Amino acid sequence: MGAGPGDPGLLTLRGKALLEAAEVVVYDALVSDAILSLINPKADKIHAGKRRGQHSLLQTETTQLLIEKAQQQAVVVRLKGGDPFVFGRGGEEMADLQAAGIAVEVVPGVTAGVAVPAYAGIPITHRDRSSSVTFVTGHEMAGKYRPSIAWEAIARGSETIVIYMGLHNLALIIEQLQTAGLPGITPIALIRWGTRPEQEELFATLETVVAAVAERQFQAPAIAVIGQVVSLSPLLPPTMMTASDRGLPTA
Ligand code: SAH
Repeated sequence: MGAGPGDPGLLTLRGKALLEAAEVVVYDALVSDAILSLINPKADKIHAGKRRGQHSLLQTETTQLLIEKAQQQAVVVRLKGGDPFVFGRGGEEMADLQAAGIAVEVVPGVTAGVAVPAYAGIPITHRDRSSSVTFVTGHEMAGKYRPSIAWEAIARGSETIVIYMGLHNLALIIEQLQTAGLPGITPIALIRWGTRPEQEELFATLETVVAAVAERQFQAPAIAVIGQVVSLSPLLPPTMMTASDRGLPTA
């Protein structure tokens, strides 16, 4: 089940009902306290969280735990940040559970790549500025069957680019996008802890963003949004606005 990006108002009604009915909830690090507080107080709450560098449970251990609990209990909820099938390993866990003969219901969640830009006032598509959007991870699994992301194709083919887990490899990603032809003045927004009270935004351009991240010591978890839609945000600093952003006639 997806918990959404943090704001409990973004939880689905189905998700809320399941949290209230759950006997066991196995949850990830990115699930907010506000969501955890909605869980049935009698439920067994197990943290299977994973943040870069600190693994609480290995993936195989998490799956094994889910199988054991599901064999013992009626309602086991596997709670994940955002949507379980968007960079959430939901597909792997579902397959393992099904292979073990366990019935699985999938409850979608509002994914960070959609909700977090929205809470920063960035429409990821817009009739005047972007007819396409790509969701991409900045942190690929080593040894994956497909060796690497085609940044060049993404730069050419997608007017808005939304990057999950992009901070760690940011300099490399920006370099590849610029090599592929994206101008240095292309706007980018980084949004940290989106939809939560501690939400923070950093607005920059491809040219300036790496230095800005270092200077502000801007940290994960953050969503990056790249494209002309970024300059539609009402939170954009006036210094980054073009004449057309201000509604002035352009030459
Ligand atoms: N399944 C999740 C994504 C998991 S990958 C979803 O659908 O949203 C984890 C990454 O998601 C983080 O590194 C960050 O890039 C992004 N993310 C998740 N929640 C976020 C939030 N509240 N604010 C900003 N980024 C977030």
